[in-house]
Amino acid sequence: MRSRRDFNTRWTESEPQEGTKENTVTAFGNYINGEFVDSESGKTFPNINPANIDEVVGTFQSSNEADVAVACAAATAAQEQWAATPATKRGEYLFKAADLLTEKLPQLGEEMTREEGKTLPEAIGEVTRAINIFRYFGGEGARQFSLNVPSERPQVLCYTIRKPLGTVALITPWNFPSAIPAWKLAPALIAGNTVVLKPASLAPLSSFRLVAALHEAGIPKGVINYITGSGGSVGDALTSNPAINGISFTGSTSVGDALYRKVSDRKLRIQLEMGGKNPTIVLKDSDLNYAADILINGAFFSTGQKCTACSRAIIERPIYDQLVPILIEKTRALKIGNGLQPGIQIGPAVDSHQLETDLEYIKIAKDEGAELLYGGNRLSGGDFDKGYFIEPTIFAGVTPNMRIAQEEVFGPVLGLMVAEDFESAMEIANGVRFGLSASIVSRDLTRVHQFIEKIEAGLITVNLPTAGVEYQLPFGGTKESSYGMREQGPQAIDFYSETRTVYLRYVH
Ligand code: NAP
Repeated sequence: MRSRRDFNTRWTESEPQEGTKENTVTAFGNYINGEFVDSESGKTFPNINPANIDEVVGTFQSSNEADVAVACAAATAAQEQWAATPATKRGEYLFKAADLLTEKLPQLGEEMTREEGKTLPEAIGEVTRAINIFRYFGGEGARQFSLNVPSERPQVLCYTIRKPLGTVALITPWNFPSAIPAWKLAPALIAGNTVVLKPASLAPLSSFRLVAALHEAGIPKGVINYITGSGGSVGDALTSNPAINGISFTGSTSVGDALYRKVSDRKLRIQLEMGGKNPTIVLKDSDLNYAADILINGAFFSTGQKCTACSRAIIERPIYDQLVPILIEKTRALKIGNGLQPGIQIGPAVDSHQLETDLEYIKIAKDEGAELLYGGNRLSGGDFDKGYFIEPTIFAGVTPNMRIAQEEVFGPVLGLMVAEDFESAMEIANGVRFGLSASIVSRDLTRVHQFIEKIEAGLITVNLPTAGVEYQLPFGGTKESSYGMREQGPQAIDFYSETRTVYLRYVH
């Protein structure tokens, strides 16, 4: 029997009441048709703190096909009315939710650190970004421009209008558990779509908070629906449901590829943001301290668990021997631990599987002949024994054909590669199947422009880390990193809307 949870006072009470407390662990509901409800399955799963695996951050619904069907039906039923609501009015719900999230910023940051492991400053920064995204797309309600061009014919007006897709499925990963759901939810809603959101099972609380804020902001029932549960069951049922008119997915390349194959027969609009193997090229004119900081930020912050993380440092030979010791010293100085503690710069791997993957790739790199310069081990002793901590790791002697140079690890593992000159650096940088982000460190304007021209990446940074993007610009990769239209920035609306072209003769 589906039960209703009353969340209506949560944002105003000093002690949040987000669900029922069972043995001091809070149980969180699905959110379907404007109500917080249990799954039909009657089962839940735990959300574990990766820095302290004894701590259950909360339990979440193990949803099933029946829950998906109800959520999709609710979203479909609400869509026409939502699309008929003026876009500026739709934006008001996003503004109000942004205000509510801002009031709770310290709490939300702490919760994210506890469910995902990133440091508190990183988590606060991410929630702030989600808030900014809500505000930005709230404003887009008044800025959904269309084309109006002269006709070839007399007394004819030619212009375009936008129509929402209908009901869209949003499937998100664990590594940005607030920002990524926000950057899908907000443009989908402002364009007039209703949504069913399925967050990653490893970090569902942060997106629950976004949904709860929109609920508290008074968004009409059925417009947003949130269901948790495994990708194999909930994700599969959601992407198979005929009510879904579009899918926005961020996650691994393997799941993205499978989704693409699955929906291509239906010619469903789909957007896939997937893995990367992002390079930083360091040219010989660089300031070495500065270059080392850029590499460390890109490779190790957030435990290397960013799709835009740098995993290949391509260094011009004349500076290689000087840069490497600086890089190692700075890496040695990094503070690793529970991200809630002040001064910690790197938290744990998100779970035991990711930790095993990191260690497995470290072994593969050694077996293939790369030279371990720093790190390479799981951290143990004291508080490290409570979580999935791993040393930031640097390999030298990495060659382009090694798996460590070609495959995404998604951990704090950096491969150093030597380039004889700029041209060979570019060849190495482009010699992978991915093309998400890429950076260069140099003061040589000509080389920088050649890099911007020739690098095969959707996100290009100069004298900045590969990671660290802003919400007001389009986001996405090229090659096998991405498929479909861009996310974020004004272009995000394009995915969530269809263009209709009007030819109107005003006399006859
Ligand atoms: P993942 O395993 O592919 O999961 C992503 C989402 O898909 C999760 O919600 C997952 O649910 C769901 N899912 C799994 N199998 C599914 C299926 N058969 N049908 C529908 N949904 C399914 O990725 P992840 O481990 O969460 O995230 C890490 C990956 O995301 C990395 O490869 C990283 O590069 C990539 N990423 C890319 C970007 C970008 O913008 N390019 C940004 C961030 C992350 P469960 O959690 O329940 O398994």
